Amino acid sequence: MQHIYSNPTFQLACDQFKLIADYLNISPDLRDRLMFPKRSITVAVPVRLDNGTVRVFEGYRVQHHLSMGPTKGGTRFSPSVTLGEVAALAMWMSWKCALAGLPYGGAKGGVQCDPRRLSPGELERLSRRYLAEMIPFIGPHTDIMGPDMGTNEQIMAWFMDTYSARQGYTVPEIVTGKPLSVGGTYGRRESTGRGVVYLIERAAHLINLKLVGGTAVVQGFGNVGSIVARGLTHKNGMKVIAISDVSGAYRNEDGIDVRAAEQYTKEHGSLEGLPGAESFPPDELLTIPCDVLVPAAISGVIHGKNAAKVQCRILAEAANGPTTVEADKIFFERWQDVFVIPDILCNAGGVIVSYFEWVQSLQSFFWRETEVVDRLFRVLEQSFGAVIKRSKEQKIPHRIAALAIGVEKVMRARTQRGLFP
Ligand code: NAD
Repeated sequence: MQHIYSNPTFQLACDQFKLIADYLNISPDLRDRLMFPKRSITVAVPVRLDNGTVRVFEGYRVQHHLSMGPTKGGTRFSPSVTLGEVAALAMWMSWKCALAGLPYGGAKGGVQCDPRRLSPGELERLSRRYLAEMIPFIGPHTDIMGPDMGTNEQIMAWFMDTYSARQGYTVPEIVTGKPLSVGGTYGRRESTGRGVVYLIERAAHLINLKLVGGTAVVQGFGNVGSIVARGLTHKNGMKVIAISDVSGAYRNEDGIDVRAAEQYTKEHGSLEGLPGAESFPPDELLTIPCDVLVPAAISGVIHGKNAAKVQCRILAEAANGPTTVEADKIFFERWQDVFVIPDILCNAGGVIVSYFEWVQSLQSFFWRETEVVDRLFRVLEQSFGAVIKRSKEQKIPHRIAALAIGVEKVMRARTQRGLFP
């Protein structure tokens, strides 16, 4: 069917949903109600560039369902972002929030732009204008924004300031992922990566894999990828033998110095020219033999053509939607070789701590970092336990188990609330 969301990432999210709908035997009249977004907004974002000209950027926000509370989701600044991709990410957010037991529907936003090519002033004007265009559709009890690829704490501070200026008072609870100085929470920046590392440790324990001295490969070296790489090396004694970012892929069989790589990206903007590592073709990265493979960049990178060649014991999906349905079929057959930690479980640390930040902002009552981390691990432990239990009891892959728990919770809320009018 052709519709405004037509896009490979949306197709992937729908294909996954249909598998779950068949597995849960969801009635035909509920399927489309659960799958298609409740609201989607497209806005024109005019921005004055430094050279005096005005450029109009395209911005999106998709709110997937409103059955369990306000919607919640990040904002992606990327040249390739589309309404369909945002809709897919919003749908995954719904299942992710439900799996973790958070009182949210899923949302996502995006602006088609390359933030690396904008000056700081242009980026600020773009961020503020995008948020201003969204004001009629968002609110602390309607839709709460957060960061995603290409956006950061500074952009969240501009979002919060723009919204607050319109209200006439400070409204920190309109966004999460804010700097601490304006009501952010301890541990938000590290939350997604920290959660991924926690789940890798849990998975390793279950399959008797010793992490100390083992090898890891990480695709994407931004907020999530760099923190996962740091946690695997410094906390768990693993060797990260290959990393990549948008500039290319870099390897060192003896292990990459992760802290030095972080410092290098801070200074140079990317990993390009990273000392102490050899550059190699990025499409070989995901098939390097290793104990732990962490896609932490974009969706659809593990597909029907490379899934059989993936040679890891744990596939930790830090990115959203890194594995296509074709690749999943291959992993379903290889479940004894590869332990998949599906994305909606694996990267849930971000939205869990965002929820903590929202709660703290609403109450103006702040928690210590140890409280944040402790509560994060407790929620993840519960979700991980539920997925493993269901997978074992019903002999289904982890992804089906995770999605089924999420979809079921949304379906239950929706049917109990009923159809209006
Ligand atoms: P980021 O913008 O900080 O970093 C993204 C990284 O991916 C950068 O290093 C970039 O160079 C790299 N990259 C982009 N395209 C690439 C490509 N084609 N090949 C290899 N590397 C590429 O973003 P992030 O916050 O680290 O998010 C990474 C992934 O994790 C995304 O899929 C995002 O949706 C997901 N995620 C993030 C959070 C969060 O809290 N930040 C939460 C849940 C999920």
